[in-house]
Parts: sequence; structure tokens; C-alpha cells
Amino acid sequence: MHAPQQSTAGSQRRPNIVALSGGVGGAKLAAGLDAITRADGGKLTVAVNTGDDFEHLGLKICPDLDSVLYALARLNDPARGWGRANETWHFMRALQEIGGEDWFSLGDRDLAMHVERTHQLRKGIALSRFTADVAARLGIHATILPATDDVVRTLVHTEEGALPFQDYFVKRRCEPTVRHIDFPGAAEARPHPALLQTLADPALDAIVICPSNPYLSIDPILALPGLRAALRHASAPVIAVSPIVGGDALKGPAAKIMRELGAEITPAAIASHYQGVIDALVIDERDSPQAARLDLPVLATRTLMHCLQDKEFLAREVLVFAREIARRPATLEAVQ
Ligand code: GDP
Repeated sequence: MHAPQQSTAGSQRRPNIVALSGGVGGAKLAAGLDAITRADGGKLTVAVNTGDDFEHLGLKICPDLDSVLYALARLNDPARGWGRANETWHFMRALQEIGGEDWFSLGDRDLAMHVERTHQLRKGIALSRFTADVAARLGIHATILPATDDVVRTLVHTEEGALPFQDYFVKRRCEPTVRHIDFPGAAEARPHPALLQTLADPALDAIVICPSNPYLSIDPILALPGLRAALRHASAPVIAVSPIVGGDALKGPAAKIMRELGAEITPAAIASHYQGVIDALVIDERDSPQAARLDLPVLATRTLMHCLQDKEFLAREVLVFAREIARRPATLEAVQ
């Protein structure tokens, strides 16, 4: 949430942005924000969901952190959406041959990340430190932070009982009907101190909630103690980009979960989900007729990100919108 600010927002100023992100959808906008902050000599901090993290075959797997790392290092596979490009699958085939658990795919190149992370964490290195070291090695400009170094787990309560996130998402392909979702460990966890420090930076231009799944990717971050208060007290506007476009999610179970939880599948429902957290919402141009229904500032623009230009375009739109909002009195009407 923002307090009305004096206008210091010249378009030439170096952008200073925090993004909250899940995996695939979030990483796309994070890559756009990274490109524009890099080009303009600015600063980007991406705080990433860790609720999907789990242990598999003795390895620590952090799917959303890896999606963001690979996307910002331009190593990601855009067609598959997750994992690395030019991947091979010899390990999985060999694992199948000897009867190993094969429900969760691990590519040969991707495997290096999990093995090394597990090795470093066992030596007592924090997840954030490992992530920063890898980001530096891969030439990433942005600061990528796990939202917390503590263990938080997304638990999906379904009609068939409580399922750990990956059991719901991968093993059961999101089929069971969701009743509610909670985050064991969140109440005792601490947000990463660098995240809180960055959110309190008076020079911040924008806090962007990427078009990630609100329930599975962003809520585990918002559940961390003090995080909502830090967003409320931040001087920069908090802007969410809707993952719901034209009455559906572009990928994944967001729309299905919204239906099962009794929400409309509209940008308005996204705004209401983030009520008390966001100052403004970015929706897709095809949903622009819905802007009038929303009682917060709205920007309707092209939010589909197929290529790097799309990602940069949306990142610039969000930044300009954030600067415009920061210059306005707090009680403005919704705009389009
Ligand atoms: P996950 O953790 O890998 O499931 O990925 P996220 O939670 O970060 O992102 C999933 C959400 O991203 C889905 O709800 C999609 O609708 C949304 N999404 C994916 N690509 C795009 C895009 O190009 N534009 C918008 N607006 N949303 C997208």
C-alpha cells in the first residue's frame, strides 16, 4: 500500500522494483522486469514462493526458484514451461529401468541444480545463499530471494483428504476438488530479511505481484508473518497482474481452484482475493470492459507473454502505471 508521494517519478529515473513470483507465469514477467531494470541500470528483487519445495529421491527440489533462475538466465524451456531448454532425459529412463519413482520428471541438466543444492544445504548453507551464488554464476542481474529460508509447505485440502502440493499438482494432476489450502510452517517462518528491507526502501517504484496462481504461488508468500504489513507500509504501490484472462487461466489450475472455492473466474475476483494488499490491478486488454466493475485503479493492456518483447512490454507498462499511481492522491477513481 502506498502513501501519496511527492512526484519524483521522472521516466528517466532508474527503476527499483520488487516482484513476488511463483513459477512459470511469474517467471515470465520477472524476466521482463529483469530486462528493463538491466537496460535502465535499475534494481530488481524477485521474492519467490517456496511452498512448492519438497524432498524427492533425497534431493531438495525448489520448482519455483528454479523456474525464475532458468528464466532470468535465459536457460528455460519456453515450450514446456518448466525446466531447462535442450534437456535430455537419460536419468529418468535409467531410473525407470531400475524401478525408481518416476512420477516427477527430472531432466539431466536440471538434475545438477538439485544435486548441488542438496549438497550445499546439507553443509549448512542457507537456501538464499545457494540461490544467490547460482544466480551470480549464471550472470543474473536481479536479486532472487526465496521468500523465506525457513520451511513452509503448501498443503492442499481436497475432497480426498490433505495432499502435499506436489502430490496434488503432479501426481494427481490437480484432479481432486480443492476445499481449502494452508501453509504449515508459515506462521513460524520469517520472511527473508533482505525482502523486508527492500520493501521498506523509500526509493522503491513498484511492488509487482506477478501473474502467478494467487492461491498456490502468492498466498504462501503473503502468509509469512509481517509480509502483509510490510506491503501495507511500503511507499511504493503494490500492483498485481491478473493471471485470469478472458475467463480462464492461461495455464495450470487457477481457474479450476477458483471455481471450486466459489469465486468467479474474473479479474474482479483476483482483486478481491488480494484486497487489503494491492493498490491497483493490471488486467488483459480483452477484459477491459470489466474495469468499470473494479473499485481500484486498473490498467488494461496486453498481458499475454509469448516472447521476450511481450514480457518487456508488460514490465514497462506496469512500471509506468506504478509511477503514475504514486503521483496521484490515494483516493482516485479506477482508470483504464
Ligand atoms: P507455477 O508456480 O509454475 O504454477 O506458475 P505461476 O503460479 O507463477 O503461474 C501460473 C499462472 O500464470 C496461471 O494462472 C496462468 O494463468 C498465469 N500465466 C501464465 N502465462 C501468463 C501470461 O503470459 N500472462 C498472464 N497474464 N498470465 C499468465
